[in-house]
Amino acid sequence: MRIESRLAQIGSAKEPVTGAVSYPIYQATVFRHPKLGQSTGFDYARTKSPTRKVLEEAAAELESGDAGFACSSGMAALQTIFALFSQGDHLLVSLDLYGGTYRLIEQVMSRFGVTASYLDTNNIEALEANLRPGSTKAVLVETPTNPLMMITDLARVSEWAKSRGLLVIVDNTLLTPFFQRPLELGADIVIHSATKYLAGHNDVLAGLIVTKGKELSERMAFLHNSIGAVLGPQDSWLLMRGMKTLALRMERHQANASRIAEFLLEHPLVTDVYYPALPHHPGHEIQKRQSSGNTGIFSFRLKDPRLVEPVLRHVKLIAFAESLGGVESLMTYPAVQTHADIPEEIRRAVGVDDRLLRLSVGIEHCDDLIEDLGQALEQAARETEV
Ligand code: PLP
Repeated sequence: MRIESRLAQIGSAKEPVTGAVSYPIYQATVFRHPKLGQSTGFDYARTKSPTRKVLEEAAAELESGDAGFACSSGMAALQTIFALFSQGDHLLVSLDLYGGTYRLIEQVMSRFGVTASYLDTNNIEALEANLRPGSTKAVLVETPTNPLMMITDLARVSEWAKSRGLLVIVDNTLLTPFFQRPLELGADIVIHSATKYLAGHNDVLAGLIVTKGKELSERMAFLHNSIGAVLGPQDSWLLMRGMKTLALRMERHQANASRIAEFLLEHPLVTDVYYPALPHHPGHEIQKRQSSGNTGIFSFRLKDPRLVEPVLRHVKLIAFAESLGGVESLMTYPAVQTHADIPEEIRRAVGVDDRLLRLSVGIEHCDDLIEDLGQALEQAARETEV
């Protein structure tokens, strides 16, 4: 079956007793044993829980993996993955990275002796130069990166990583399995902030991990249960409900984002637009090859930093807020919000500067969004005389 059908049908044929098309929310934390030495397959909800299990199986299937693990947030998913590593281990990590992931590595994992080098993960020479034989254990890739939308060739980096015995972990939050399936391109682990496109409505905090291979899946199941940052049944249900409409939403996010990116590209107050669907984007060709579509977020740079504050004040339909991937459009100022924990010199070197804004384009009517942006830019220009 095609992915649209599999998404729409998540959980719909999984409840044999009543035939409920919407899989029920099993709130129980504990399950009776039929007798000593027997189990229904469920014992205690941290280890396995029915509603979460349906979600986890769907996630594994959609990402072409062997096992799925639902976590209480994207950060909880990353923390669970990082527990694969031990003191002295080293990671190669995308340079333009979600600020929270950077913070987790630098301020938490570093205390346990796990370190990282940040670099363009599409540059094999740079990966090779930063490889620490014996210590480097994995490559962690965001593609596209957030917020600058840098693209990594997943098949190429996976092939290199395999030749060096490294795990490949891909944060697939921005594209979702609807547009990109990293495990099919050679990655070992996919992680999602399911809070974003998968849930899709700015109302569920969740994370997902999908693993490839029996041994890795067993190790992850052990860590998921041992750490216990699991997703509750209500949120598992909400996430599944969101995922049923993922195909429709992603198509609309993509269509809206493409038109708005083109509008901003032509706007006199905008100097740069970072969106891989645009032919001038340096990752355009790789993105086209390895993904079947484009995400709904992109970043753009204003002509002058003085325009930022009034633009954020004057957008009406678009909310000034710190997330992405929901049906409602949001605008973020990465330098002071999502990426504030990345030191200024690194941020500036990457390009997350004080003129950069990120737009998560929702599913509203595109003309309304363009009109909103247009009037906010116009008012900002008038107030600042830029
Ligand atoms: N990965 C990416 C790319 C993100 O954008 C985020 C959150 O913004 C996370 C991971 C963390 O996810 P969560 O906020 O669900 O903990």
